Amino acid sequence: AGFESFKLNKQLLNAIADLGYKSPTPIQAKAIPVANAGHDLFGIAQTGTGKTAAYLIPILLKIKYAQGNDPRALILAPTRELVMQIEENARKLATYTDLRVVGLYGGKGPKLQIEDLKKGVDLIVATPGRFTELYHAEAIHPRQIKTLVLDEADRMMDMGFMPQIRKILEVIPVKRQNMLFSATMPEKVVKLSEEFLEFPQTVEV
Ligand code: AMP
Repeated sequence: AGFESFKLNKQLLNAIADLGYKSPTPIQAKAIPVANAGHDLFGIAQTGTGKTAAYLIPILLKIKYAQGNDPRALILAPTRELVMQIEENARKLATYTDLRVVGLYGGKGPKLQIEDLKKGVDLIVATPGRFTELYHAEAIHPRQIKTLVLDEADRMMDMGFMPQIRKILEVIPVKRQNMLFSATMPEKVVKLSEEFLEFPQTVEV
């Protein structure tokens, strides 16, 4: 079955066609219906499987169009490179909408990122470090965040981001949809999923 079977909107279907995606990858086929139904999701998938679009498509379907000034979805990822890739993928999938995607990462000053946030934002893709910095600078107002993704959670744990991530969880709404993606499933990631996800469905490829 193709992407039509997911009941996506025209904006997403057109963007997916432009990207040249003919049919969903296995992780997308499994994860998209689960996420669209509003469930928490525990995804075990490596880079290269199409895992990014597996969570981006449900998010973009959920937030639909620009609304207010404050972010409604947040994706946390371990590195600047990964944040930039996710941001690019999200921008392409959002081509036919007015959704505002902002990527936040280190390696350059925060000034331009703060200016982008001031113009209004619907989806933030960020490293935990830069998100925390800009939250403390009061450039991010996280009270409308209803969807949270932790991408490459295993790597974020290995890099020591968990204390920072726990602090971020304290400032975003408790009532939200959570998606946790990891390439591997060691005991510590299973523990994290139990702590962080509510009645999750696990999808694995
Ligand atoms: P990812 O695993 O998310 O890093 O994606 C790996 C690559 O596959 C990226 O270049 C995506 O744009 C591409 N991709 C994602 N989904 C599909 C699809 N359904 N068909 C073809 N390519 C895809």
